[in-house]
Amino acid sequence: MSRTEEPAATAPTPAEHFDVLVVGAGISGVDAAYHLKHQCPARSFVVLEGLESFGGTWLMHRYPGIRSDSDLYTFGYGFKPWTGAPIASANEILRYMGEVIDENDLVGHIRYDHRISTASWSSDDDLWTIEATHTGTGEELRFTAGFLWMCQGYYRHSEGYTPGWQGMDRFTGHIVHPQTWPDDLDYAGKTVIVIGSGATAATLVPAIAGRCGHVTVVQRSPTYFWSGANVNEVADMLRELEIPEEWIHEIVRRKNLNDQKVVAQLSFDEPELVKEELINGVRALLPEGYDVETHFTPRYRPWRQRIAYVPDGDLFAGISSGKASMVTDEIETFTEHGILLKSGEELTADIVITATGFNLSVLGDIDFTIDGRPLVFSDTVTYRGMMFTGVPNLAWVFGYFRASWTLRADLVCDFVCRLLHHMDELGVTRVTPALRDEDADMPILPWIDPENFNPGYLMRSMHLLPRRGDKPEWQHSQDYWTEKDLFPSADLDDRCLVFE
Ligand SMILES: Cc1cc2nc3c(=O)[nH]c(=O)nc-3n(C[C@H](O)[C@H](O)[C@H](O)COP(=O)(O)OP(=O)(O)OC[C@H]3O[C@@H](n4cnc5c(N)ncnc54)[C@H](O)[C@@H]3O)c2cc1C
Repeated sequence: MSRTEEPAATAPTPAEHFDVLVVGAGISGVDAAYHLKHQCPARSFVVLEGLESFGGTWLMHRYPGIRSDSDLYTFGYGFKPWTGAPIASANEILRYMGEVIDENDLVGHIRYDHRISTASWSSDDDLWTIEATHTGTGEELRFTAGFLWMCQGYYRHSEGYTPGWQGMDRFTGHIVHPQTWPDDLDYAGKTVIVIGSGATAATLVPAIAGRCGHVTVVQRSPTYFWSGANVNEVADMLRELEIPEEWIHEIVRRKNLNDQKVVAQLSFDEPELVKEELINGVRALLPEGYDVETHFTPRYRPWRQRIAYVPDGDLFAGISSGKASMVTDEIETFTEHGILLKSGEELTADIVITATGFNLSVLGDIDFTIDGRPLVFSDTVTYRGMMFTGVPNLAWVFGYFRASWTLRADLVCDFVCRLLHHMDELGVTRVTPALRDEDADMPILPWIDPENFNPGYLMRSMHLLPRRGDKPEWQHSQDYWTEKDLFPSADLDDRCLVFE
């Protein structure tokens, strides 16, 4: 179905046309490509990726120890068995994704080094026009597409979030953000401060502690952790019985999802019990008399932020051995040689690592227009956390926080393919979410309820995100266990989607 358009008078570059254009070749974009290939074989599609290869998050994060904190039986795709240890390194995830690309002949569909800058919708043509730059040659490229599938993740890839602390310019050592880790950073024997205690710090600290002189983690407030051996006993037992890997994947996936459901539910129903369990788990891995109250007793309900998994307790082993230590305090200012804390204590360091999170990027920092008018995503209301009112022929994969991201990517992929088939059946070329008459009085709320989930990068940027209503059709529920049944059965003709 591909065709090449004649260049318009004002457009110097001819546009290449695809039925579907996927933005990003991370775990979501490759999922979209797999689904298009198998479920919509008659449609032409291309995946444009700004980086030099596939993998997204797992390609661009290069800090020592980079690994998943979800188990790969659920972070892996539903259709491709995971055969390794549950918590995987970035390289193992990249190898798995590479196999998906090879086994499904997706190579020819992906174009790397294509950085997209604009996306413009024309209602006259029912087409998106996408402008991209080839990052290697600088060539300006144009594409048109009937449907735009945003798989660009949720954070700005070029730069992580670093709060502007006083005195940073005075510090004579290195300040490094894990997202832009210098390949040549020499931390052997050095005194290192890591600011922040989320999943990144929990991964990084044990990975560098052995080589550094000492690592101090400075946190404003404590985080929840859980720990266990990086093995899945059910999978190992089934393997011993020579059960096919497809079965093992499905069984372990279902078991893990069930276990996670129970914990997530319990953290709402009995938060104190879950809190106590988690803290006792940490206490058991630390030396007798360690100040767990100060450093590992969070002030929020479990699951309001993602709970970092510590495989084999490696973070706590680092603390127990004296190679790493925790400080719970606020930063007053950077000094020439380190950090002065509000308590008056001064920590010296050769290197300060700011494991302080992301900058949210709404839809890939691409300038969107609809019929010539700039599109402000925060003016829209989301349809099921994947499409937006007034924005035709566009879907976004935004995964789960409390469950593996990819679980939702798989669900959205099936939904979009079903939607594309439905459009064929109706003989239409445009689908646009729109609030119905009965939605007129619906409260319009922020993208996510801060009482439900409130990590810093979302709180800082909530005003940029699309909004939600209070009905299932008009929100991202963050609830896999509801959406797994809801999405496949969602009525496409319930008038939330206008087909033309
Ligand atoms: C260190 C780290 C660990 C994580 N661990 C987990 C985990 O264990 N479990 C979990 O569920 N989630 C985890 N996450 C969240 C994680 O980001 C997602 O799970 C998942 O990898 C996101 O995949 P994605 O393909 O949607 O987006 P990304 O991985 O962010 O990939 C998006 C791709 O789109 C490309 N792109 C963006 N904008 C443009 C543009 N304008 N033009 C061209 N290309 C563009 C990017 O270059 C990138 O390759 C983690 C995140 C981080 C940072």
